[in-house]
Amino acid sequence: MHELAIAQSIVEVVMAQASECRATHVKSVRLQIGEASGIMTDSLTFSFEMLTSLDPLLDGTQLLIENIPHVARCRTCAQEFAVVNLVSQCPLCQQWSGDIISGTELQIQEMEIETATPVMEE
Ligand SMILES: [Zn+2]
Repeated sequence: MHELAIAQSIVEVVMAQASECRATHVKSVRLQIGEASGIMTDSLTFSFEMLTSLDPLLDGTQLLIENIPHVARCRTCAQEFAVVNLVSQCPLCQQWSGDIISGTELQIQEMEIETATPVMEE
């Protein structure tokens, strides 16, 4: 299960970041996933929820997924076009010379954390 391994590495990065920021809880993690990354977002969300439920720091953390369309730019006429079924053929000049400009990403865009506010007691 590919997505479980991906979810595992996301959780590791988030945990490391959270402890660096002395977070008490991670509220949400925003991910960018390219259409061409081959990742099934449903199964990634499922794996993420399963892994995060094991840790109080991450329990209930929302996984927000932003899907990035697969887009290429023609090297001949500079037309930008959507890549459908991994075919990067320019619809204008029919050249097979597309440079992929988006759609392969997998990155953590941001995360929202809670930190303990120091309570002054006298
Ligand atoms: Zn073209």
